Amino acid sequence: MSLRIRFMLALLLSGLAAVAMVGGLAYVGMNKKVDLIRRQQAAEHFYTYLSAYLAHYGSWQAANAVEPFDRFARRTQEAERLNAASQQNGAAPASLDAPRPADGEPGPPPNERPGPPDERLGRPDDGGPGQPPRRDGGPRFGPEFDGPGGRPRPMPMRGEDGGPPPPPPGEGPGDAGSRPPPGQGGGDRPPPGRRHPGGEPPFHFIVADQDYKVLLGAGVYRPGEPLPEAARKDARAVMVDGKVAAYISPEGVFTPSKEELQYLAAMREALLAGVTGAAVLALVLGVLLSKRLSRTLSSLTDAVRAMHGGSLLQRVPVHGKDEVAALANAFNAMSEQLARSHEELSASHQTILAQADQLRELSVRDALTKLYNRRHFDEQASTLFNQAVRHQRPLSLVIGDIDFFKRINDQYSHATGDAVLRQVGEILRGHMRLTDLVARYGGEEFVIALPETALPQAAALCDKLRHLIEGFPWHEVQPGLKVTMSMGVYGDLAAGTAEAMLQKADALLYRAKESGRNQVCFA
Ligand code: GH3
Ligand code: MG
Ligand code: MG
Repeated sequence: MSLRIRFMLALLLSGLAAVAMVGGLAYVGMNKKVDLIRRQQAAEHFYTYLSAYLAHYGSWQAANAVEPFDRFARRTQEAERLNAASQQNGAAPASLDAPRPADGEPGPPPNERPGPPDERLGRPDDGGPGQPPRRDGGPRFGPEFDGPGGRPRPMPMRGEDGGPPPPPPGEGPGDAGSRPPPGQGGGDRPPPGRRHPGGEPPFHFIVADQDYKVLLGAGVYRPGEPLPEAARKDARAVMVDGKVAAYISPEGVFTPSKEELQYLAAMREALLAGVTGAAVLALVLGVLLSKRLSRTLSSLTDAVRAMHGGSLLQRVPVHGKDEVAALANAFNAMSEQLARSHEELSASHQTILAQADQLRELSVRDALTKLYNRRHFDEQASTLFNQAVRHQRPLSLVIGDIDFFKRINDQYSHATGDAVLRQVGEILRGHMRLTDLVARYGGEEFVIALPETALPQAAALCDKLRHLIEGFPWHEVQPGLKVTMSMGVYGDLAAGTAEAMLQKADALLYRAKESGRNQVCFA
């Protein structure tokens, strides 16, 4: 996977993780907070109405004999609403003293109410005597938000869909008597915490008396049965005249209102938009940042390849001041240094090669005449001899010696002797072919190797050289100076070696000296 893709993936994952974490926490937190606020508000409203109900009538039994609690609550709520409206219009507030029929129904007097009072407690919508008690009986209270200020107001609620839910299986009108007696727990009732299989019941309050006997069971408990310990923990005492008049205990879970569901849906949408935005941002940032990163890295790769190919001086563009820019700067500096060092090294290598050439040249040349020296001549003569033998080609070797050279030194000077040696060397060199080899053999002796030259041509050449030396205007060097040379030439490969041939030539030179000097002897 390329660095660019990894970079983009890292950005994408971290962006999504951050949005999901923050958004998820906010979503869960908001859900909890909404639930808590609604519970608190519902509890406050229920408490207010129940305490008013009990305070107004003295006791639950007395109150329930006059009107059920939910009717009282609705009536009170209606009165409050009218009061609020009349206060706005400047009219007298409505009275709560006398019960009045709710929802247009005639309000029967307490002693004409059907059935015993406890049958009606918690079940204001009971069908009357002889009918089985409904298990969804109690009024449900939930906050409702009234206008943009969010002021909660109590609102008694019925079942989820506005009507009571059907009784659970086995609780039809015909089997009302089969229900277990209060206090023994419902045989068909789920245990606390899981009382309604398939989901929590809707939220409502259970009302119990001072002894935790259920007054309003909200469809979960039957009136008269003791409130279980689990429910007592959350129970709140309702105080009337400084005494505990009842307990209320919350039950079930809130069903979010349409408005709240809209809020939560809006939040989910915002969360989704945040995740999408983070993903797009991560991709865009990934593309831009990784493009910049990979641009420098690919320049570096190209430059390294070029260096590997021999172009040491490379320069990559530097963008910004980050680590990659530092790497590019360091690379440029390294490349420059390397190129400079390489240049210096090449220069010194060239110098060394030149010096080596010089040394080699010096080692094979005679310092005075610049002709080859004896050692080089011996090496080359041997090679030339072997080649001549192998190819059956002629080879002549010559040895010449300046006549009475000691006298020149003595008569003129040693420097004049050196000048004579240099000039003789010039004359000899000036008349050689490229393949010929001429050297100063020592003192005033010179040797010449003439490949591809048979003895007669060699003798003729030597005689010519002898003439040239004799005829040189030596008087220009020193007045009265005369220089001649005697030479011995040998051209028979049968001698066996170049050294042997040279000895033969030396012998012929000796003969030339003996014969009066300034002449060429050959054989
Ligand atoms: P011959 O004709 O028999 O060859 O007599 P010659 O005097 O030339 O020979 P000899 O061997 O007696 O003298 C050679 C002299 O050459 C002796 C030496 O001082 C001189 N000589 C040798 N090398 C050099 C040199 O490099 N420079 C100078 N100026 N003289 C040198
Ligand atoms: Mg000599
Ligand atoms: Mg001599």
